[in-house]
Amino acid sequence: MSYIDVDENGQIRRVRCKRCRATLQVYARDAQTPPQVRKLPDGTRIHEQAYRLCPTPAYTEVVLEIEEADGRRSLHITPMCRACARVLTDADADDLFRRDIAQWRVEGAQRPDQAAFLAAQAGRRARRIVTEA
Ligand SMILES: [Zn+2]
Repeated sequence: MSYIDVDENGQIRRVRCKRCRATLQVYARDAQTPPQVRKLPDGTRIHEQAYRLCPTPAYTEVVLEIEEADGRRSLHITPMCRACARVLTDADADDLFRRDIAQWRVEGAQRPDQAAFLAAQAGRRARRIVTEA
């Protein structure tokens, strides 16, 4: 099950915690960007308001260490809720990484390098190293 809700235009409307499905981000009016008013040559005034994915109080990110198939290590940052981040185990971390790979599969289905990219992920293993809850 996807943790990202998308509308009919492909706009992300909601991002949920991959572990408990708490809402982490919602598409909403951007309170940090003031509304703009544009005036067309014919005098028509257009009011514009920026929207973006806004984090909820539950939002945090965890940093996972990824062990590559060849033994090298890299980092993967993924969002989740604060409550789940506090109790995240290595098994959970690997499950989160698998869910992100599944999401990339959905999002990148049109990419020409998709097969090679996903094949490269298969041998990788994740574990928790940092929690910013
Ligand atoms: Zn959660």
